[in-house]
Amino acid sequence: MSKQVLDITEFHWMMDMLQTIDVGLVVLDADFNVQVWNSFMENHSGLSPDKVKGKSLFASFNEIPENWLRKKVRSVFLLKNRTFTTWEQRPFVFKFKNYRPITGTAKYMYQNTTFIPLSSTDGCVKHMCMIIYDVTDIAVNKLALNQLNVNLKNLSRTDQLTQLNNRGYWEDCLNNEFARSIRYDTVSSLLMFDIDHFKQVNDQYGHPAGDKVIRQVATTLKGMLRSTDIAGRYGGEEFGVILAGTHGQEALLLAERLRAEIAALKIQADGQEITFTISIGIGEISPKLSQPIDWLKQSDTALYYCKENGRNCCALYDPHKMA
Ligand code: GH3
Ligand code: MG
Ligand code: MG
Repeated sequence: MSKQVLDITEFHWMMDMLQTIDVGLVVLDADFNVQVWNSFMENHSGLSPDKVKGKSLFASFNEIPENWLRKKVRSVFLLKNRTFTTWEQRPFVFKFKNYRPITGTAKYMYQNTTFIPLSSTDGCVKHMCMIIYDVTDIAVNKLALNQLNVNLKNLSRTDQLTQLNNRGYWEDCLNNEFARSIRYDTVSSLLMFDIDHFKQVNDQYGHPAGDKVIRQVATTLKGMLRSTDIAGRYGGEEFGVILAGTHGQEALLLAERLRAEIAALKIQADGQEITFTISIGIGEISPKLSQPIDWLKQSDTALYYCKENGRNCCALYDPHKMA
């Protein structure tokens, strides 16, 4: 008798503790009807226990995908296993608003949820307990850190004047494309171009105007790129473009369009109008090339050929015409 009294007392203590604990506690029967609904759940959902108890969880919370949850907890009922879902798999089970002032950037509370089988006295699992943890602080910090890493990675790859790929990253891309193209025996072309008489631009209009010219070249180039083309600022006023899957002749057409667009630009600087041109050398990958630098040298030789032959032109590398 005294043992039974103690049990009831303990049960009340337990219920008091469960009510005040700062995690969500929900007990469901096998039909997903709510049996227990603690104050954490009441506070965040705005629904008191008498509003949800005895009713289907899915009827009260239509944001919970029924098929997903049933599948998720099948083993809880069948095999008496615990299972869980993290905020990274699914940001939340219950769509509770996030009211935390510090982590106010999150609209909804991020949650980790554990599902625990509850055995009856006969050993069968007819109920399941859901424990819902508010992990908004952790999630928001982790997401912010991830975003910071993405930003840092982009920053370390990007040329600040033009927002094109910088030389280091672009050269990595060149090496990768060279290896890929040789391995799979596919074609690829490389444009290298340089602004003509750029020293004169700087001398005549000043360095800031020269920077404006470089930026405008990058903008024009970006406007012409296809999704698979990879452009980079190779040096001061030299640029490289990797054209994966593109034959030399096709690359020559593209280069000619770029050259013409640049030649037609009129850049305003201190009330003056700057016009300028570029020269473009093109190299097509071939099995004769043993390393990426050979590919680069071909394009550079073709670029040098353009410079020697009047500038404002494009040339595809040709071993018979070029040294
Ligand atoms: P060429 O037609 O033979 O290419 O003649 P060029 O005068 O353009 O000669 P070159 O390509 O060697 O010129 C490079 C010049 O570009 C030298 C340098 O002062 C200038 N330069 C390099 N980087 C920058 C930059 O970031 N901003 C500005 N404004 N000028 C730069
Ligand atoms: Mg130049
Ligand atoms: Mg140069």
